[in-house]
Amino acid sequence: MTNHLFSLVRDGVPDPAKTVIETPEGRRYTYADLIARSGAYAAALRAAGVETGDRVAVQVEKSPEVIFLYLGAVRAGAVFLPLNTAYTPAEIGYFLNDAEPAVFVCDPGRRDALAEAAAGVRRIWTLDGAGGGSAAEAADRAGDAGSAFADVPRGPEDLAAILYTSGTTGRSKGAMLTHDNLASNARTLVDFWRFTADDVLIHALPVFHTHGLFVATNTVLASGGSMLFLPRLDPKLILSLMPRASVLMGVPTFYTRLLKEPGLSPEAAGDMRLFVSGSAPLLAETHRAWQARTGHAILERYGMTETNMSTSNPYAGDRVAGTVGFPLPGVSLRVVDPETGAALGPDAVGMIEVKGPNVFLGYWRMPEKTAAEFRADGFFITGDLGKVDDRGYVHIVGRGKDLIISGGFNVYPKEVETEIDALPGVVESAVIGLSHPDFGEAVTAVVVGGPGCPDEAGVQAALEGRLARFKCPKRVLFVSELPRNTMGKVQKNLLRDAHAELYRD
Ligand code: AMP
Repeated sequence: MTNHLFSLVRDGVPDPAKTVIETPEGRRYTYADLIARSGAYAAALRAAGVETGDRVAVQVEKSPEVIFLYLGAVRAGAVFLPLNTAYTPAEIGYFLNDAEPAVFVCDPGRRDALAEAAAGVRRIWTLDGAGGGSAAEAADRAGDAGSAFADVPRGPEDLAAILYTSGTTGRSKGAMLTHDNLASNARTLVDFWRFTADDVLIHALPVFHTHGLFVATNTVLASGGSMLFLPRLDPKLILSLMPRASVLMGVPTFYTRLLKEPGLSPEAAGDMRLFVSGSAPLLAETHRAWQARTGHAILERYGMTETNMSTSNPYAGDRVAGTVGFPLPGVSLRVVDPETGAALGPDAVGMIEVKGPNVFLGYWRMPEKTAAEFRADGFFITGDLGKVDDRGYVHIVGRGKDLIISGGFNVYPKEVETEIDALPGVVESAVIGLSHPDFGEAVTAVVVGGPGCPDEAGVQAALEGRLARFKCPKRVLFVSELPRNTMGKVQKNLLRDAHAELYRD
């Protein structure tokens, strides 16, 4: 048996001397370096006592070394467990306690602050953004053992990674991803998005999340392409790199920020072949603005930590703004009545469920939660509400928990947001339900206004007649920006908490 996921990388190597990762400071790594360096991490992990199936937890700044460490953990037969760099020591304590990793790798600058949280972990290593630290030193010491490292055999069903979900309700859950969840999805995306060894991806996403670590990195590695590896979103730098690149993958914020760059033009984006967006809804207006400014239609896709990528707009066909396209090859998707589980027809809004080789194994040490989120026939209940239109395009309406029930009627925030966003002067909006003595929940709009934006009464008047009365916001609040997490998702839970008392007597 081979190492199922790493075989995908090995088989994709075009020429060992080819550059796979380049940083803005001009550091370059070839495929041969990637094989040697990941082998060195694998050897160092085994030498440190890591056994097959052990977790390797990592909270470090983005750098090429993180990719080598990830692949090293996979080659060592371990389970890679990346953690958001924004997590506090208390949060890290929860994850380490839950995952019980054999090794925890952290930033040298946070070593002391995390000492208590990591007290139960056998070995703590450090790794900084410049590639220094005791983890890198352990890999250096592995030397010959690293270059000769024989990958630990792992089959398609074995665990390759655990990613904790963002957990906006209750505790985060560890999504267990198998070798084949990751390998099959990478293969599908290579084909569907037509990746080849000629591709150069601008990689400016974090690598603790499924988007940057798996969708972006695995797809490039599986096709033998290369990456321009940026530590973070830097619109000017991205723009300046476009002439040397072919693909950009980003969250919607990438595109709204790039649209503010005066240099963005058809010429600047002329050498690019593909712009992909996901992880949060891309406004139809951003899609249109991008097309007008660059001549490119952004390709929007939909997925989640638990399912990898499930749908994508077509590469060659119509990329329809405001939709996430069709189920990917091999993925089954259906929309059902959330209460009964009965399948719904075209255009009916319900719960999105998916099944396929992309869908995770379950939540780490949470058999009840896992059982509750799978149907008997193997479909995973995503928690996202949406519909499939008569052309087969999937539309995401929002998270199930964001659904507002006002006076007994269901209100889908996206429908109200779309109407508000269309008003002149409105930059964007978030519609939430807040506890209300009469209605149970009251539809409430939080609006970011620009020049010419109507006031509260103006917004309410403009929506009258366009939306049923029960959908119209009882109150409209104005803010300078919406709270977003690092993946660009609007944090509606923070808005709900901040305004929880709005309708209290
Ligand atoms: P995560 O597990 O952090 O990747 O978050 C997954 C969630 O992000 C999904 O369940 C959706 O709610 C949301 N999401 C991802 N892609 C899209 C998209 N293209 N449009 C709307 N929501 C999306």
